[in-house]
Amino acid sequence: MDFILNDDQRIIQKTVREFAEKEIAPVAPIYDKSHEFPWDVIKKLADLNFLGILIPEKYGGAGLDYLSYTIVIEEISRYDASIGVTLAAHNSLGIGHIYAAGNEKQRRKYVTRLAKGEILGAWALTEPGAGSDAAGIETTAVKDGNEWVLNGTKRFITNGSICGTVVVMAKTDPSKGAHGISAFIVEKDTPGFIIGRQEEKLGLNASDTSELILDDCRIPKENLLGKEGEGFIDTMRLLDTGRIGIAAMALGIAKGALEESIKYSKERVAFGHPISEFQAIQWKIADMATEIEASRLLTFRAAFLKDQGGNVTKEAAMAKLFSSESGIRACSEAVQILGGYGYTKDFPVERYFRDVRLCAIGEGTSEIQRLVIARQILGLKR
Ligand SMILES: Cc1cc2nc3c(=O)[nH]c(=O)nc-3n(C[C@H](O)[C@H](O)[C@H](O)COP(=O)(O)OP(=O)(O)OC[C@H]3O[C@@H](n4cnc5c(N)ncnc54)[C@H](O)[C@@H]3O)c2cc1C
Repeated sequence: MDFILNDDQRIIQKTVREFAEKEIAPVAPIYDKSHEFPWDVIKKLADLNFLGILIPEKYGGAGLDYLSYTIVIEEISRYDASIGVTLAAHNSLGIGHIYAAGNEKQRRKYVTRLAKGEILGAWALTEPGAGSDAAGIETTAVKDGNEWVLNGTKRFITNGSICGTVVVMAKTDPSKGAHGISAFIVEKDTPGFIIGRQEEKLGLNASDTSELILDDCRIPKENLLGKEGEGFIDTMRLLDTGRIGIAAMALGIAKGALEESIKYSKERVAFGHPISEFQAIQWKIADMATEIEASRLLTFRAAFLKDQGGNVTKEAAMAKLFSSESGIRACSEAVQILGGYGYTKDFPVERYFRDVRLCAIGEGTSEIQRLVIARQILGLKR
């Protein structure tokens, strides 16, 4: 396994890093405070072709590999995880599901516009009564002539209120459990597609998280995505990629926490010495740096194996589990290193501390990642 980035990946890393430092770092605290969606930054990212990172050029995307995708999410999340999660949900789920399971007509009609950033994509599995137990969703889709009629409520949907399309998972045959779930493409202006409450969150304030209500929402029969009854199976495959994205997001936030901690500890003087000279602070920085390196290895490894075409269910879950939990530790330690200032909005570590918490919840909680890893190791069924 070779983790030395190739020329293209190095150029992408440099481009995104410079863009994030110049265009994202100055506005991130402003958007965090205003809770506004950063459309201006998203439009600039679309110009850089980062709204179709994994999509081939013939469908308007950048045609990059998973390792490059990981690098983009890490570098963006270093300065603003709200933008990181927006990009991750759009690229790996909202657009990824249509590209992976869609037919040529669906790819031409939807993927091209999504990849160019003309519209944003959302992806809706979670419901008020079903998150980890995803097969327990209650949204239904019933065929009526040339249409499907969708009814149900989706919760916590990233990009939900600002998307152009949303992929909705619904039961087409409730008697078949997970094998009776199908995926559908719903356009935002469809009658019966209603935007519900916007979540007031702990962090990721500049990302959109909405409730979506489907009330006799009629969509054309050709908007079935993939085969009827295979929406859940496609979802499980898709979440492997999604989890690599969340691992990269946690990695980026943790890197930000470490960099801020190093800078501050060299400048802050206590008892006549920079606090970086105290062993207690050095040990925190050593632990943070070590866990960040371990997170990067796990995350890059999962992306690398995905690029080789292998099954990465276990590797993606391990990357997400470790990166998110160590990221939470790193951000907590960063607040500690900055003392009282770490608890204020004068420094970004307070925002990192809030934002990173989502990484152990979204796209499968840490408990579910442990379940996935154990099942893979023990050879048990999902
Ligand atoms: C900011 C944000 C953005 C999100 N974006 C999206 C999105 O774009 N699309 C989407 O579909 N969803 C999205 N989600 C939903 C997210 O994926 C779910 O919140 C997550 O999967 C957990 O589901 P839940 O909230 O229903 O918790 P629950 O499933 O109710 O879990 C509650 C607790 O019980 C534990 N638990 C549950 N089952 C088990 C078990 N078998 N063994 C051990 N412990 C268990 C969980 O780990 C957790 O600690 C988002 C959530 C947030 C907060």
